[in-house]
This record gives sequence, C-alpha cells and structure tokens, in this order.
Amino acid sequence: MPPFAPPCVPVPLPAFEDNYIWTLAGDGGDALVVDPGDPAPVLAAMAEGLRLVGILVTHHHNDHIGGLAALAAAVPGIEIIAPHDERIPQATQRVDDGARVQVAGIDFETLTVPGHTRSHIAFHAGKVGEAPLLFCGDTLFSLGCGRLFEGSPAQMLASLDRLAALPGDTRVCCTHEYTLSNAAFALAVDPHNRALQARAEAVRDLRARLQPTLPVTLAEECATNPFLRCDDPAVRAAVTMRLGRPPADRIETFAVLREWKNVFRA
Ligand code: ZN
Ligand code: FE
Repeated sequence: MPPFAPPCVPVPLPAFEDNYIWTLAGDGGDALVVDPGDPAPVLAAMAEGLRLVGILVTHHHNDHIGGLAALAAAVPGIEIIAPHDERIPQATQRVDDGARVQVAGIDFETLTVPGHTRSHIAFHAGKVGEAPLLFCGDTLFSLGCGRLFEGSPAQMLASLDRLAALPGDTRVCCTHEYTLSNAAFALAVDPHNRALQARAEAVRDLRARLQPTLPVTLAEECATNPFLRCDDPAVRAAVTMRLGRPPADRIETFAVLREWKNVFRA
C-alpha cells in the first residue's frame, strides 16, 4: 500500500495501538486527513508527497485531535473542520448537522451523531471514486460501536440509525481497528448469522496478514453488526436470554448489548 492516498482512495495510516488516520486525496491531488491523533504518520506521508490541505475532526478525544497543533503549524492556513466543541480549540470551521463542506475538492455532508461524545459528528461523501464514503470516528465500528461516554443508549441508537440509513455501498472508514475483537462479541450474540461467520473468517485472515479490515461497506455492517441489528429476532432472542425477559423496546435491546459488550471477554 502506498504511504498516502492515490486520488479518491481512502488509505489508513496506522497510529498508536489501533487507530487509523484516514487520508483521502481528491482528483486534483490535494488531500485531507481525518482525526490525526498523532502528527508523526501524517508528517511522514507529507514527506512522501501527501499534499495536505485540510483536516476533518469527528470528536474531541485526544487520540483524534492530538496532532492538530503540529499539523496546523506545518501547513499554514490549513482548514480544520470540527464540531461545535470548545475542547477542539484548533478548529478553523465549526459545522452543524447537515452542513456541506468541501475539502481537497471533495464534497462532504455532516451528520451529528451524539452518543460516544455529545458533540460527535460524521462526514459523508457521495460518490468518491467508486462509491460513497463515511468517516464516522468512534460512533460505528466494524462489528461494533463506540462506548457511551457522554450520551444515552437512545441517543447512540438514533445516531447509528442515521448512519445505517446511508446507501449500502457506502464505504465505512472508522477510526479504530477493533474488528477482530468485535467479531468475537458479535458471534457470541448472533452465532448462526452466516454473513457474520463469513466476515469473521475474512477478518481473522486479514489480521493474520496485518491488513486493515476497513473500509467495510455499510450493507455488510447492516448484515453482521449486532448494534445495527436491534430489530433482528436472533439479536433480540440473545438479549432476552441475557436479561431473563424480553427487552421492552429496541432501545433496551441496544442498551443491553452495549453493557454486555463492556464486560465481554472472548
Ligand atoms: Zn473517542
Ligand atoms: Fe478513539
């Protein structure tokens, strides 16, 4: 894989233990990065030719913004697009829900997706190269979802519902490589799901070769991710077993799944 993105192909730069800093170049060759928690991999990609002009920020956690100050110093006038949150002081533009922003020649629409944090946002682009793209930070992970640090289960479920309503061929670019451990939990919840079994197998193979499991299509997530399947009879049945009674509604199904995942050990 090249050290930085060829036009219209999202390429993850590994950072820390399991973060990805996504890079994406537009047709003109200018590029953006998403959630640069560490400036070093981005500066290294720039040394190899990445023409960084903008940064998208999904939320304020340090593993997503730790590189902002160094990158702003390295690229005078760089655009840093972030949610309304004073905990991201480096932002040059703050966006609301449904905002349209253009960075590196690529048009994005923002969605507010509270739950992991109260001001978390996601960036969605219609066709970029071959298909739409979603940068969703720590809201939706492959086969999982973010922890609820500043939001309720109802908020997070509503946020996931919004992401799940995007086109099925949308390529999901989340910020963490958690897919292998998420697969163990997903299989505990939904062991007979053939699509999930196949995805888990593919993920084991990718990780054995140290390859990213992302991007993944939204259609594949909707078929395999238990947190997107609160209405599925098998997922409801697993939650009913855990609770000792049927969940009152899909919000309770989601809440039980999230708490179960918090204590799950493979
Ligand atoms: Zn986070
Ligand atoms: Fe994170």
